[in-house]
Amino acid sequence: MMKAGELAAQALALAGKHAVPGISTWELDKIVDEYVRSKGGHSPCKGFEGFPGHNCYSINEELIHGIPSKKKILKEGDILSCDIVAELNGFMGDNTKTFMVGKVSDEAARLMKYTEEALYKGIEKAVAGNRIGDISHAIQAHVESGGYVCAEKFIGHGIGRDMHEDPEVPNEGKAGHGPRLMPGMTIAIEPMVNSHSRRVRILSDKWTVVTTDGSLSCHFEHTVAVTNGEPVILTLESH
Ligand code: MG
Repeated sequence: MMKAGELAAQALALAGKHAVPGISTWELDKIVDEYVRSKGGHSPCKGFEGFPGHNCYSINEELIHGIPSKKKILKEGDILSCDIVAELNGFMGDNTKTFMVGKVSDEAARLMKYTEEALYKGIEKAVAGNRIGDISHAIQAHVESGGYVCAEKFIGHGIGRDMHEDPEVPNEGKAGHGPRLMPGMTIAIEPMVNSHSRRVRILSDKWTVVTTDGSLSCHFEHTVAVTNGEPVILTLESH
């Protein structure tokens, strides 16, 4: 899991480095896929329920599941969420960052700050003996403290040999509720945050999820292992 996580994190960093004005999300996807395959891994997203890309690239009001496209050209001021999954030796690493394309508005930067902080607030609670609801509550509380809302419908998940496993890891919930966390559990914690309304809808491409009100949204994610001690973030570029 650690090796798969490292590969996913390296690929995500590579996407971030290339996320500059003028590049298409199709080109980014190609760069990421070539890197992952050069290291002996591959993307389990390609073909997953018919998904046409290797990974997901979502711009501004697009929350998640953006399909890489030659027509989607990054421009100065965009925020771009890259959700990168790598499978290596039968295990999965899943991680997401939202990157600034050039200089972004203060509004966008603040949304990104709160979303990333909410991820780490959630990770802090991923400790054996706690419950899933402790993670969910910590994320929700931080998101709402910034005046934002967690997007409806979409949540984090267990991960291991499959990309999506039990348990569900919601971004909203009650502390002290839900499944108990046990050492050895590996989960993807992923706050998905909207600026205003929690409402989202799926575009006619059947994949891209956007905010219904067209406002900015943001997404950060790590794959994390629960241990008897501190949570271990598996999706780091090196351990
Ligand atoms: Mg995920």
